[in-house]
Amino acid sequence: METAPNALIVPTVHGTTFMVKMPTYEGRDPCFQEEPWCVHCHSRPASGLLCCSRCRTAWYCNNDCQKSHYKAGHKTICLEVARDLKAVEREAVRLRNFRFQNLFETHVTNFSEVQETKEYMTARWGLMETY
Ligand SMILES: [Zn+2]
Ligand SMILES: [Zn+2]
Repeated sequence: METAPNALIVPTVHGTTFMVKMPTYEGRDPCFQEEPWCVHCHSRPASGLLCCSRCRTAWYCNNDCQKSHYKAGHKTICLEVARDLKAVEREAVRLRNFRFQNLFETHVTNFSEVQETKEYMTARWGLMETY
């Protein structure tokens, strides 16, 4: 089994371990920026990995791996991440159209202090905590 440089071995209470990907996200879309591997069987085919379309955080080598992983517990985190992603997107759209000005551009330096950005920041925090 190949271990990626950004992998972290996490021990569980059952005495087993599992591997998680450390975040390397720097671009706009993790689906394209990372060099992922299958989160279920940990194999890393040269190409053709599938990304979970709902949460966009998990990669699979095929549908079987995705199904097994979903049943094994991905379902919970997947729904939470997807819900927070939606909240962030919804608030971002609102802020971009806020009184015909884009708060992302006009309030860059004090973004977190603007009352109108509160919902967006809350949604982002929620998203961060689900990861
Ligand atoms: Zn797999
Ligand atoms: Zn998912």
